[in-house]
Formats: sequence, C-alpha cells, structure tokens
Amino acid sequence: MSNLWPADSAVLCDGQPSADTVEVVSPLVADVGSITVRRLLPRRARRLVGPWCFLDVFGPVKQSGRKPMDVRPHPHIGLQTVTWLFAGDALHRDSLGSEALAVPGALNLMTAGRGIAHSEETPAGATGAVHGVQLWIALPDAQRSIAPAFDHYAERPHVDVPGGRVTVILGRIWEVSPPGRTFSPILGAEIAADRAPRVVVPLDRAFEHAVVPIDAGLALDDLRLAPDTLYYLGTGRDEVCLGVEPGRRPRALLLGGAPLGETVLMWWNFVARTTEEIVAAREDWQAGRRFGEVRGYPGARLDAPAYVARPVPANPMS
Ligand code: MN
Repeated sequence: MSNLWPADSAVLCDGQPSADTVEVVSPLVADVGSITVRRLLPRRARRLVGPWCFLDVFGPVKQSGRKPMDVRPHPHIGLQTVTWLFAGDALHRDSLGSEALAVPGALNLMTAGRGIAHSEETPAGATGAVHGVQLWIALPDAQRSIAPAFDHYAERPHVDVPGGRVTVILGRIWEVSPPGRTFSPILGAEIAADRAPRVVVPLDRAFEHAVVPIDAGLALDDLRLAPDTLYYLGTGRDEVCLGVEPGRRPRALLLGGAPLGETVLMWWNFVARTTEEIVAAREDWQAGRRFGEVRGYPGARLDAPAYVARPVPANPMS
C-alpha cells in the first residue's frame, strides 16, 4: 500500500525504546478513496516498535462488488512491506515481475532495499471485501541498499494455546519460527482469542512490543482495549496476558523487535536517513529511473507529491 496520507512533511523516528508502562496510541482515521484507513504508526506519540515503522489498518469493507483497494504503482526504498489480511483479497504486482494474491493467512513480504515499485488492488472478479493491515519494517542502515525482493508465503504456522490460537507472521514464538526474509530481530503475530478468560503469549524481554486489537473484547490487566488502537508495552516483559471477554472471539496483532537504535527519516513511501536521499529517490521516480515498471496494472502510476524542504515539525501527523 502507498502512503496516501495527506501529509507532506518528513517524520523523524529515533529508534529508542520507552519506559515499560503502556502507551496508548489512538488511530488517525482517513477515508482514502473507497476505503477507511486507520494510521497507528508513525505517530507523534510512537514512531517505532522495534523495526516496525508504519501501520495502517484498512477496512473492513464487506462484499461490495466494488474495488475498495486500488493503490496505483508507487515506489519504496529502505523498508520491507508486510500485507496481512483478515478478510478479502488483494493482488500485488511489482517491478520485479512478481504477481501474488494476498489472502487471509498468507503473507506478502516485499523487500524494497534500494528501490522497487508495486501496486495493490482488489482483483477482478473478487467480492470486493477486504480487511487487513499494511506494515512497514525499517531496514537497518547496513542492509537498506540491498537488491529488492518479493516473497509470498502461502501459509504461516500457528500454535494453539489455552484461550486461542497464535499465528506467527515473522520471527519466533516458542519454537515456531517460519521462514521469512528479515534483517533485524523482529516479531509479528496474530492472536485469535476464542474463549475466556485469557490468552497468554511469551515475549522476549529484549524486545519492545505492542498489541493492536482488531476486535473488541480484549483487556490488558484492568485496561479494556479498544480496536484499531496501538498499545505500546516497552521492553522487559516476559509475557503478555490478554483478558478475553466471554462469548467473544477477538483478534489482535502482536508486534515486536529489538529497538532499532537508529534514527530513520520517513517521507511518503521512503524510509531513509537524509533529506538528500529522499529528494533523489523522488526525482528518480518522477523521471522513470531506478524503480522499474509495474506491468499489468490497469492504469497510470502514482505521482510523487512535492517535497517541501523545511525543518521537521514537532507535530507533523497528529
Ligand atoms: Mn506500497
């Protein structure tokens, strides 16, 4: 997915963990074409969770017969994208020639490295339903100029635990560690609670973590959790214990990773370190250089917004 947010200023993200209290990050909501998007990262209150630097929840759109997702070809640098769906489908195409259908339970993982372009759209003949998340992972400085790649994983392993099922998207929980091209210690998982009173997932104390409920019906200690909200847990926790309301089957994302320890500069669809890199990437995209061509997408590619050179505002997105 492209960053379609109506913001033109760069966002500086210093990869330092915060205290181990719970920070609540409420979503910024926007209607982007025919779909509602809730932005949870980056926000003023929280820029990074481990290497996770971007999180949009989109949908749910019920069976609509329309094309709720239609993100025209656009470029990325310095990051990986994760598309993870709870319902519906989305067709990915990129400038490497990859074509892959994202469906619930499958992982689309795109490594931009020094540059790639892609599109994501509701496929022709689909029901028009979609509900999912788009995540970006900041690449560490040493790897951020690697060659681009795309990986589709049809299945992710899960573990059934008292109170629910945990699907490992990336990283490791217990001894479950599915294949996945990653470049710094990371965790991404979907928790599907299916009965009260609780579901417990062990955590790596060295990681910072966040819980993002997708449905109502979860609690963290005495705190009732709201859907589409990011609860940042900091580092130093051995486990997360989520209370489950009787009769509900709420889902949540669990994100984590070693604190990145680097300051990244984000603008539009680029994760960089300097303004010069962002300007160069933008110019290359506009001039048709570097990123290649996305073949098969029925329409024009996305133009980059103007880059407005100015100091990074203290409060760019809230
Ligand atoms: Mn994208």
